[in-house]
Amino acid sequence: MSLVIKGFIETSFIDWDGKVVSTLFLPRCNFRCPFCHNAGLVESPQNYETIPLSRIENFLQEHRDFIDGICLTGGEPCLHVNAGLFEFLQRIKQLGFAIKLDTNGADPNCLKKIIDQRLVDYLAMDIKAPLDERYEKLAGVKIDLNKIKQSIELIRACGLPYEFRTTVVPTLLDNQDVAEIAEYLSGAKKFVLQQFVAENAWDDSLRGLKPYLKEEFDELIQVARKFIPQTLARGV
Ligand code: SF4
Repeated sequence: MSLVIKGFIETSFIDWDGKVVSTLFLPRCNFRCPFCHNAGLVESPQNYETIPLSRIENFLQEHRDFIDGICLTGGEPCLHVNAGLFEFLQRIKQLGFAIKLDTNGADPNCLKKIIDQRLVDYLAMDIKAPLDERYEKLAGVKIDLNKIKQSIELIRACGLPYEFRTTVVPTLLDNQDVAEIAEYLSGAKKFVLQQFVAENAWDDSLRGLKPYLKEEFDELIQVARKFIPQTLARGV
């Protein structure tokens, strides 16, 4: 297995609602979201220390009475299929830990295998924008929207707990955009609106941007709840 882990938060209370996890960061991404705050990991992963898998396994084994599982994030985990992503997930499951996987949904084939083989316990997929030409602006690259749509349908039908989540960046997404996203996702089990963090945003013109105020954010939540009652706020 040549999977390269470039970040390791031993204990996190915020990466999987209700669970205590270790969060692992995989490098590289096929998106360039202007609001991404992991740009270094995406563009210059060579500048980050590689965490030996043995260190991660040892930590998990030693803290199994405290740690429920792992959150595998990035970057984009599905870029690492050929480096042993599935084998790694299997290994973590064999050790008896639950797994949450974060993805941008660009690779439905990867997700299908993960779902079919029940390699994870929870899926979180980013929905960057309404499912039309606006998507590319928020993803920062050309997008095959059909693949994003396939991933959404796979996750909806997968039978595992999941969430769709959208980071709401003022000037890039407004109430109408959020309404359209939520309408597309109608009937989803869980939708999360995430507060934008300006610090370290990839596009430096966003770094001075004020995130939505609490009242404005509450309004976005109400807009989304018309279509998905289980809409929650994160980071507000
Ligand atoms: S999909 Fe995630 S990791 Fe990739 S560029 Fe966008 S925010 Fe960053």
